[in-house]
Amino acid sequence: MSVAGKTAVITGSNSGIGLGVAQELAKAGANVVLNSYTDTPEDHALAAEIAKTHGVDAKYVSADMSKGEDCRRLISDAGRCDILVNNAGIQFVAPVQDFPAAKWDAIIAINLSSAYHTTAAAITGMRENGWGRIVNIASAHGLTASPYKSAYVAAKHGIVGLTKTIGLETAQEPITCNAVCPGYVLTPLVESQIPETMKEYDMSRDEVIKNVMLERQPSKEFATTEQLGGTVAFLCSDAAAQITGTTISVDGGWTAL
Ligand code: NAD
Repeated sequence: MSVAGKTAVITGSNSGIGLGVAQELAKAGANVVLNSYTDTPEDHALAAEIAKTHGVDAKYVSADMSKGEDCRRLISDAGRCDILVNNAGIQFVAPVQDFPAAKWDAIIAINLSSAYHTTAAAITGMRENGWGRIVNIASAHGLTASPYKSAYVAAKHGIVGLTKTIGLETAQEPITCNAVCPGYVLTPLVESQIPETMKEYDMSRDEVIKNVMLERQPSKEFATTEQLGGTVAFLCSDAAAQITGTTISVDGGWTAL
C-alpha cells in the first residue's frame, strides 16, 4: 500500500520541517492537512499551492497545539487522518534557575502533550480504516542533552517515550508509530537563533554555523527539510511496516559520538 490517496495531518506545517514533510508526502500522492496557530491568507495559499503542484487535496486548519481541545479539533476538522505527523515545536534556551515557568509549560504543551491529544483523537479512525502511520518529529535532543534546553530536552525525551508506548499499544495492528530525530536543520526556528549566538560568541554567521551549531554534527552539514520529508514518507511505506516504536536519526552522525 502506498501513501497515494491517504490523508496526512501534519501539525506545525506552515514552515520548516513540517512544510517539507507536507510537500514530500504530497509529492508521493497523499492529501495533506496543513496546520499552525495562525489563520492568514498566506497559510491557506500554501495549501492551495501544494494542491496545484502535486494534484492532491490540501487544506489548512488553524488550531493551537498548546491547547488540548484544539489538537483534538484539528483531527476532526481534517475529516480523515491516515497519517499523523506530530511536528509542531518551539524552543527556548536558559539555565534552569532562570527558565520562565510559562516557557516550560508552553514547550511541554506544544512539543509533547499535543502529540498525546492528536494521537488519542486519531487512533480510533486509523483502527476503523485498518491502516495508520504516526510519525513524531523528535530531535537528537530526544536521545541526548545540551545545557540550557531543559524543557526542550525533557519534551523530546518524552515524545520518544510516547512513541515507544504507542508502538507497543498498536504492535499487532496495521498501525505504526515512530519518531524521527533530526540534528540541525536550517529552518526559521534555527535561523532565529543565529543573530543572538553571533553576539554571544562575537562570531560571524559562518563561524556560528560551523563552530557552534554544527559543532556536534560530524557531517558539518545541516540536514534538509526534503531529507526529513523523505524519511517520513519511508516510514509511511510498506517497507517500513515492521518498523515501530523506535527512532530514526537524521543527524549527520551526532548521536554516534
Ligand atoms: P519552525 O519554527 O520552522 O516550525 C515550527 C512549526 O510549528 C511552525 O509551523 C509553527 O507555526 C508551528 N507552531 C509553533 N507553535 C505552534 C502552536 N502553538 N500551534 C500550532 N503550530 C505551532 O521550526 P522547525 O525547525 O521546522 O521545527 C519543527 C519540528 O522539528 C519541531 O518539533 C522541532 O523541535 C523539530 N526539530 C527541529 C530541528 C532543527 O534543527 N530545525 C532539529 C530537531 C528537531
